[in-house]
Amino acid sequence: MSVAEEIEKREILNAYKGLLRSVKTRSKEDTKLIRKAFDVSLDAHKDMRRKSGEPYIFHPIAVARICAEEIGLGTTSVICALLHDTVEDTYLKLEDIEAMFGKKVATVIDGLTKISGVIDHTESIQAENFRKILLTLSEDIRVILIKLADRLHNMRTLVSMKREKQLKIASETLFLYAPLAHRLGLYNIKTELEDLSLKFQDPETYEEISTKLKKTQAVRSRFIRTFSSPIKRALDELGFKYEIKGRPKSTFSIYNKIKTKHVPFEEIYDLFAIRIVLDVEPQKEKAECWRVYSVVTDFYQPNPDRLRDWISMPKSNGYESLHTTVMSPSGKWVEVQIRSKRMDEIAEKGLAAHWKYKESNNYENNLENWITKIREVLENPDPNALEFIDDFKLNLFAEEIVVFTPKGEIKSLPAGATSLDFAFEIHTKVGAQCIGAKVNGKLVPLSHELKSGDQVEIITSNKQKPKEEWLKYVVTGKAKSKIKSVLKDEKRIIAADGKEKLEKKLESMKAENNHQNLREIMNYYKYNSEIDLLHDIALDLVNLDKLNKFNVEKGKLKHPQTIINSNRDFEKLLKERGKTEEMLVIGEDMDQFDYKLSPCCNPIPGDEVFGFITIHDGIKIHKTSCPNAVELMSNYAYRIVKARWTGQQKIAFLAGIKITGLDGVGIVNKITQIISSELNVNMRSISFDSNDGVFEGNIMVYVHDTNHLTSLLQKLKSVNGVISVIRIDHHS
Ligand code: MN
Repeated sequence: MSVAEEIEKREILNAYKGLLRSVKTRSKEDTKLIRKAFDVSLDAHKDMRRKSGEPYIFHPIAVARICAEEIGLGTTSVICALLHDTVEDTYLKLEDIEAMFGKKVATVIDGLTKISGVIDHTESIQAENFRKILLTLSEDIRVILIKLADRLHNMRTLVSMKREKQLKIASETLFLYAPLAHRLGLYNIKTELEDLSLKFQDPETYEEISTKLKKTQAVRSRFIRTFSSPIKRALDELGFKYEIKGRPKSTFSIYNKIKTKHVPFEEIYDLFAIRIVLDVEPQKEKAECWRVYSVVTDFYQPNPDRLRDWISMPKSNGYESLHTTVMSPSGKWVEVQIRSKRMDEIAEKGLAAHWKYKESNNYENNLENWITKIREVLENPDPNALEFIDDFKLNLFAEEIVVFTPKGEIKSLPAGATSLDFAFEIHTKVGAQCIGAKVNGKLVPLSHELKSGDQVEIITSNKQKPKEEWLKYVVTGKAKSKIKSVLKDEKRIIAADGKEKLEKKLESMKAENNHQNLREIMNYYKYNSEIDLLHDIALDLVNLDKLNKFNVEKGKLKHPQTIINSNRDFEKLLKERGKTEEMLVIGEDMDQFDYKLSPCCNPIPGDEVFGFITIHDGIKIHKTSCPNAVELMSNYAYRIVKARWTGQQKIAFLAGIKITGLDGVGIVNKITQIISSELNVNMRSISFDSNDGVFEGNIMVYVHDTNHLTSLLQKLKSVNGVISVIRIDHHS
């Protein structure tokens, strides 16, 4: 072994020893297992090096250490973290892991390998992948915690990666991991992830803010000293055991403020919270926190609108604290956070820290609730992936409200939730039969938006049934998916009548009731779904008499093809069919002429268009500005027919949008938010590419007409950082 190898080996062992020391409570058996995992991982990764050149094993050791030290996880997680990359990157198989470490460890490693498959090896996070990640999350929460530790270490060592890779990883971190860390209450990790993301996405701004923060450190310290000295004196006199900390805002949160509130650094650098952490027995913590509140407000005038009591009612990520904002002598508002040591540790390290304090049970319940909610949404048999992202994001990012049942039970809901959401939160049946609610004793409709503190009583009737428009009244994923599934069942029942009607019709025509004929009929009436067609037949929305013009050959339906070869043929046909207008009316003449919107220019209502009679494929509608139009018109004038859009359009049309801009923090998020909050706009696909700080996004949306599209383009243009927004013709 060379000297260099000797040194490397010693460094690896040192890193391992550091890890072992960070696992605070462990039995002899635990130590043995951790050692075994270390040896297995060391051997499996022995020929691998990281981009930085160091032996790969440093990475799993570091991840394991983050799990133990910064998240407070135990032996199982440390073992899993040590092994987290083995199945994906080395000769080891899941069966090997299971044989050596048992089923539990194998399950977690399997989850980690799968997540890595969906996130790390795809170009951009797609909705469907997002869903998979969360499905895995619901199996074992350790999977997500270890993945967060993995991501944190990768972010800390991101400097050795290529620029494009850095940008991809940093934006993903901001989009997915930081919110997850936040939701799980891992405050420190969330802050570090955000700061590191900013550092790589916008290095200049990051440098600028952190340099200014360092320079102004002394001013802040002086302020904290003066501000807290009278409080300290009083607390000492009263015999409190406490610590006062002044924590400046993170680089990222300052950056965010500068950007969203458009204020200079100088106006916000001294925004920070003073935190008073009490060393107190759990039974007394609430009362003691309020005593301290009373001391603080003896010296400083509180803002009555800014009192937050998260001790009596913890946030659903487990956060407990008492916040007040008071006026300092220099005329600045200062937030004061009062909490016990236990609460402080949970606030910074999240759920794992809580396991140490078993006597209080609120937190685990809340976390369980959250996971259960996600599971409910995921279990919806037919979730539309994009809608799911919206639902999830809503539940993830939105502030929550807390409301009460008539018996005083607490329910937390996302802000914007209505009485109908609440009804579904209570029980699916209560939701399905809800006819109204009483909020604080007053009668309100289903769509009534709830506020924190409301007491809600649901009024039901067994005659009530969920309706289509209910989907507009609810915001929770749970209520949405339940309503949809009831509506779908109902549609099926109605469709059964339609099926019978159609069968009779086919019988009378001597046509067979088979799949092929059904296809033909669906094509003719332009339906994509069988259920929809049968449903509409049942309600007489489909005129079955039109089938009479079909020929039947040996039980097979045949559409009577009229050959149209020129605009003269077409005009003749128009007259035959009693049309007064000499043009094709798109949207009205659907069942009479065979026409399609051309995919080359992808026209939408409002566009100026013409029809082109093709030889085999009916009439194709092009925009007059289509790049192919000049050639078609000049060479085949006799095949051109006039066309216009019908006045009423209920159909949505697919249009492409291309956005370029500066790759700022959260910009993708903002863009998708605008699109999904626009009424009636649905995204079909979205992809973003980023290169050297400039991103390019392609989005396909469903819109009604050009006006609709133009207003969407305008809104997107106004997003900070967006350089251009244009409509594109081709489906990418
Ligand atoms: Mn890793």
